Amino acid sequence: MKRIAILGSTGSIGTQTLEVVRNNSDIQVVALAAGTSVEMMEAQIREFRPHLAAMWTESAAADLRARVADVDVKILAGMDGLLEIATMEESEILVTAIVGMIGIRPTIAAIEAGKNIALANKETLVTAGHLIMPLAKEKGVSILPVDSEHSAIFQSLNGEPKGRIEKILLTASGGPFRGRTREQLQNIQVEDALKHPNWAMGRKITIDSSTLVNKGLEVMEAKWLFDVTLDQIQVVVHPQSIIHSAVQYVDGAVIAQMGTPDMKLPIQYALFYPDRRPMGGARMDLFKLGQLTFEAPDMENFPGLAYAYRASEIGGSMPTVYNAANEKAVALFLDRKISYLQIPELISECMEHHKVIQNPTVEEILATEQEVYAYISGRIK
Ligand code: NDP
Repeated sequence: MKRIAILGSTGSIGTQTLEVVRNNSDIQVVALAAGTSVEMMEAQIREFRPHLAAMWTESAAADLRARVADVDVKILAGMDGLLEIATMEESEILVTAIVGMIGIRPTIAAIEAGKNIALANKETLVTAGHLIMPLAKEKGVSILPVDSEHSAIFQSLNGEPKGRIEKILLTASGGPFRGRTREQLQNIQVEDALKHPNWAMGRKITIDSSTLVNKGLEVMEAKWLFDVTLDQIQVVVHPQSIIHSAVQYVDGAVIAQMGTPDMKLPIQYALFYPDRRPMGGARMDLFKLGQLTFEAPDMENFPGLAYAYRASEIGGSMPTVYNAANEKAVALFLDRKISYLQIPELISECMEHHKVIQNPTVEEILATEQEVYAYISGRIK
């Protein structure tokens, strides 16, 4: 029996992870955590019977405690709750399906406690990859990618000798606004940006996909996960999202992972690696597809991707600035406080404004995040 804990169980990745659990009888959920979705958490507790559950706010935790008083489960709250779940003895794998930098401390705590990580929460690696990857190596734990592109790269590396990567071909759908000019992007509304052509995901990542910031975060994630340099990572826009990414080797061979877009596959692969379990669902039909197309990313009209390369090149605390500025800007856009084009503008402005800290500690990363939030709050009334 494989025992897992899930941070962010009520979200898009969290609920799909639970679907994978439903389809496999030899996996058990020992803990669940979410923000404020109490009703959904109650239903998950009743179905999966975890030992621990956590809500972010004390009031949500109190509400949940009252709702599940008849069930044998301990309800926790806040960061202490996330940390207790991350390090609990019964769990072997921590699924980090939470959004944003809130995932840094629980991920580090879980690695220190020797847990393997099924990592969806890319913001954690982007901002603290320099701490997480060496720590994982030292503790002998695996960081198993859940992001579909990184899972594709991971699958394409399977069985190959180390150090033979020439480059990584990181595919991108291009999002709903591919081909549009800056002028055409000016009046984009929240509803438009929330329509992704191929994937159904959480709100923040859907906006990030439309601005290409998600691809920027994925470039940084790939750099840490696969120990390659930035110029070894090439973003390829592939609107059909059938090739989930590929690895080009030193002999020129390219190995790709393909399939219909379904996050349950990378989730299941991470949970059962190195096994490959049966899974139902739609199959890729090359005859129906007819053709697969590719193009270069448009970094002029979608500068969010170019800023990511720059932030990663500068390194230190700059990727944190990139990520925090984006998190805040996306939240403001979703609240209709800023326009769509102000998202990359604010990222750029925050990066200009920042004095880089080399090799930041967790405290410095979190302080940088707060500085960026305060700066943007001062700018946008
Ligand atoms: P969602 O917004 O759908 O879900 C986020 C989850 O995190 C929810 O369960 C939410 O709980 C929980 N949460 C939010 N804040 C807190 C908090 N302070 N404490 C505890 N739990 C919290 O996000 P996604 O599932 O889309 O994304 C999760 C991560 O996975 C992100 O880092 C994203 O970039 C990455 N990812 C997502 C993919 C996708 O297909 N969705 C693909 C690849 C990567 P509540 O419901 O209570 O708010």
